Amino acid sequence: MKKKFRTDILKINEKRPNHVIISKASKLICSGEIIAFPTETVYGLGANALDPSAVSKIFEIKGRPSDNPLIIHIADMKTLRTLVSQIPPRANRIIKKFWPGPVTLVLKKSKIVPKITTGGLSTVAVRMPRNNVALALIRKSGLPIAAPSANISGRPSPTTATHVKDDLDGKIKLILDGGSTEIGIESTVIDMTQSTPMILRPGGISKESIENEIGKVLFQNSHIGIDRKKIKIYRSPGMKYRHYSPKAHVMLVEGPENDAKSKIMQLAEKLEAEGKKVSIMSASKSLKVNSEKIQYMGRSLETIARNLFANLRQADKNNIDVIIVQGIQYNKIGFAIMNRLKKAAITNIRV
Ligand code: AMP
Ligand code: MG
Repeated sequence: MKKKFRTDILKINEKRPNHVIISKASKLICSGEIIAFPTETVYGLGANALDPSAVSKIFEIKGRPSDNPLIIHIADMKTLRTLVSQIPPRANRIIKKFWPGPVTLVLKKSKIVPKITTGGLSTVAVRMPRNNVALALIRKSGLPIAAPSANISGRPSPTTATHVKDDLDGKIKLILDGGSTEIGIESTVIDMTQSTPMILRPGGISKESIENEIGKVLFQNSHIGIDRKKIKIYRSPGMKYRHYSPKAHVMLVEGPENDAKSKIMQLAEKLEAEGKKVSIMSASKSLKVNSEKIQYMGRSLETIARNLFANLRQADKNNIDVIIVQGIQYNKIGFAIMNRLKKAAITNIRV
């Protein structure tokens, strides 16, 4: 797509969002335009969720398949009740505990939600973000805002306004720049329409934390990403698409620490001998290779999550051919991190 607009980036303070900027942004939303704004997970590309023509622009600009539904962002419970036909008791418990925050509930939709927003499904995904810019924008526009991540489909999600500009410059009128996002990976999506709720996408809130509130929840196996090709029925259409991929070829190496490290070093040597520019992403500081090659992922799971997509995008800026990533533990938010890495990876190696 050609450049259609001049894309303005307006800096806005997350703690106390400037009224004038919020007014300008909400006017665009109310007139059927789309804009990018920060949430606590990643940057969103927002439109009036109830306006089919505004929502269609999101799909067009991202190049998003039309059967991959959008999450609707709201700022109050009154709006939730207009979007869904039913709120089961367990959904209410999750809302009480985690909203505003990075959990998205899939519920039966009401008539006012257009099919284009839900990718043709009779269910709708809704969440209340906890970023003040997002909340101020939703409140000021007085509308529920449908917003997927503000990247070209298939690319790593944006966690800064610059990432959004890198993908969407000239395609949207406005990016609200609220700095780096707090969590860095997307929300947990949970289907509340089943007799036992099912996590469709792991994310910012872990399965353990949700189970502490409502008891047993299921997982669909494909969210780790490996059996993506084998699964025939996708409860969450987003699962079947390739995702989070930088231009560089991502190789994921999993296994016991020492074995994984030697495999990584061996791979790096081989690829470099073939003339490839290699970067290694690892949460371990003790890899014995030239330090400029290493992208340290961070110590805590929270830091790893926060920097994950920025690290993948940085490799592209550095013209890296191959990113070798050392897998991390599948616990808490590590599960969501590994889900993103498995989807980003072209090669998955177990040692
Ligand atoms: P994104 O907005 O790109 O971060 O992705 C939103 C995720 O939520 C995708 O994986 C969608 O497939 C999923 N999703 C959205 N709405 C629904 C729904 N009604 N039922 C199941 N999954 C949904
Ligand atoms: Mg996305």
